[in-house]
Amino acid sequence: MANPEHEDVTRSRDRELGMDRNITRRDFLNGVTIGVAGALASTWLPGMLAAQTSAPTAQDAPGYYPPTLTGMRGSHPGAFETAHSVRDGNFWEKAGKPTDTGETYDLVVVGGGISGLAAAYFFREHAGPSARILILDNHDDFGGHAKRNEFRPGGRLLLTNGGTVSIESPFPYSKEARGLLTELGIDPPVLEKKYSGNVAFRDLGSGYFFDKDTFGTERLVTGAPGGFFGPQSASGKKWGQFLAKTPLSTNAQESIVRIQEGTADYMQGAPQAEKKARLSRMSYKDFLLNVVKAHPDVIPFYQSRTHGLYGIGIDAVPALDCWALYFPGFQGMGLDRTPSKGLTFTALGAVTPQEEYHFHFPDGNASIARMLVRSLVPGSAPGSTAEDIVTARMDYGRLDHGDSSVRIRLNSTAVAVRHVGDAASAKEVDVLYGRDQKVYSVRAKGALLACWNTVIPYICPELPEEQKKALRYGVKVPLVYTVVALRNWNAFRKLGVRSVSCPGMYHSSINLDQSVNIGDYKSSQSPDEPILVHMLRAPCQPGLSAREQQRAGHYDLLATSFETFERNVRDQLGRVLGSGGLDPARDIDAITVNRWPHGYAYEYNPLWDPDWPEGKRPCDIARQRFGRIAIANSDAAAAAYTDQAIDQGYRAVQELLSS
Ligand SMILES: Cc1cc2nc3c(=O)[nH]c(=O)nc-3n(C[C@H](O)[C@H](O)[C@H](O)COP(=O)(O)OP(=O)(O)OC[C@H]3O[C@@H](n4cnc5c(N)ncnc54)[C@H](O)[C@@H]3O)c2cc1C
Repeated sequence: MANPEHEDVTRSRDRELGMDRNITRRDFLNGVTIGVAGALASTWLPGMLAAQTSAPTAQDAPGYYPPTLTGMRGSHPGAFETAHSVRDGNFWEKAGKPTDTGETYDLVVVGGGISGLAAAYFFREHAGPSARILILDNHDDFGGHAKRNEFRPGGRLLLTNGGTVSIESPFPYSKEARGLLTELGIDPPVLEKKYSGNVAFRDLGSGYFFDKDTFGTERLVTGAPGGFFGPQSASGKKWGQFLAKTPLSTNAQESIVRIQEGTADYMQGAPQAEKKARLSRMSYKDFLLNVVKAHPDVIPFYQSRTHGLYGIGIDAVPALDCWALYFPGFQGMGLDRTPSKGLTFTALGAVTPQEEYHFHFPDGNASIARMLVRSLVPGSAPGSTAEDIVTARMDYGRLDHGDSSVRIRLNSTAVAVRHVGDAASAKEVDVLYGRDQKVYSVRAKGALLACWNTVIPYICPELPEEQKKALRYGVKVPLVYTVVALRNWNAFRKLGVRSVSCPGMYHSSINLDQSVNIGDYKSSQSPDEPILVHMLRAPCQPGLSAREQQRAGHYDLLATSFETFERNVRDQLGRVLGSGGLDPARDIDAITVNRWPHGYAYEYNPLWDPDWPEGKRPCDIARQRFGRIAIANSDAAAAAYTDQAIDQGYRAVQELLSS
């Protein structure tokens, strides 16, 4: 039975946090709340909805502009129900007879992320400007993970990335990926030189927040020595002083000083190769506990340090990866920074830094997606440069227009992709998709699946069994990028921090948006101005294998309401930054939860995955062309990077063209 006293406390705490405030979290699209409009416009919800939108399709309606929507974004309500219904096997029993659109294409691309958009670009390059291409995506916006969030606190435009952050890669971009960027007008080294860094934050540092539930006492400790990553995280030499201010036990403090500053070789006498092999088969947590012999109290302090890059904690990330990423504890072990077996894709690039690129557009790599669309669909956006795309307003009404040879159809989930006749000899494929509670079909000379591997066996059951098994192997990494628009950032200035690590809290970090001035876009410069704040949540479950954690996190994210996120955001910001004067009820203008239940592509993890022979990894088997159907997307590379998505798009197009 509900406890009335407890309910009163919750209600009064909610009021304190501002849960009753009218922030821009309830989304409006053409005057109708998105919860309804989004569902009407974008999803197949058999039997649930009777009404129809007045516009022919949502994306053609005047004012349709999803980047400004706040609240639950990423995998937003309306985006995934159709696919889940296909997965659960109850879609077809409720679906009516497909309507034949009569449309024919040279290519249908399933998935309007960077991989699908790049594939369309490469295909058109080969097949010519009149090639007819249809791109289908289940979301209300294009870009896949490369999504843009727009806010207007106090009328001022603030942009950020809803997913993909930067042009970066552990390895140099391939000729094709680099060539694509060049053709679009993106020159990352030049852009980086001209537009990097927000000088307004130059003198702000980092801190840790110790929450009561995890550490016994609630405390923000600023002035953390070194960064969280990079060579400096191991040095700094001021850990003793810093730790003395924390609520950590003396034993934990001593262990952390040893981990951060010690120079012991914990595997003395063992050859390099053996040390690395051992480190690749143990987690960083086990390394700290069993090799460094650190006090167990240090684990909560380090647990979430891998969340941003891996979406899982140190219990599931190999120690060798952590060494490659300059985590502390290895400085006395004499490991040479050469590539070695047993590193994940991310870490392999980090041992011999050869990254040529690191550039962050204010909306992340959504700018790449927007430039691709601008190039593919005439009239979809004004301008022609990497600078003017930043503030360009896309015309969504142009995306699926009959007078363009390339069309992008949003809110459309592919539910079946099948050859017309036998796969070995077929010349055409039929692609069926669900939209506005109906099923439609189009015909094409080929289909390119730039969606997620996990989806493909359901929409393409005619694939060979071995390939379907391989497609199901990787489990994408769930992750949340919550973005909060604040009316000012005085609290950060007062406390002297731009980033706070919160190892035990709902979101494991809080960061001021790393925005830059570019083109007509002006980032926040003064603490009195509005700003965007990023909060990261990895819904992982320590103790399980990486794949099991990812599966559990996926369900957890889909079951968590926006209200729960909002309450946690308000509570956390108030507790962490309240001593600097932040009042969540007063200072929060808008909240967007970029929820990615299918986030990073699965990267092979030596703690659980076998050491497959070259060319025999599940992703190698999964991406084989099957008749007139080719497979792209970053899952096909088992690597969560933009350039990999582009490379896979290129490969898949070559396969189709040569078949
Ligand atoms: C939070 C986050 C941050 C990242 N940060 C970076 C970074 O800083 N730098 C970097 O290089 N990389 C980064 N990545 C990785 C990078 O974003 C991806 O590798 C890349 O964008 C993937 O592109 P994609 O087209 O392969 O897949 P996606 O972007 O996932 O696009 C695939 C699209 O297909 C759609 N789809 C799926 N099934 C269907 C269906 N049945 N019908 C229609 N459509 C369907 C999906 O909904 C999606 O929109 C990040 C990824 C995430 C999740």
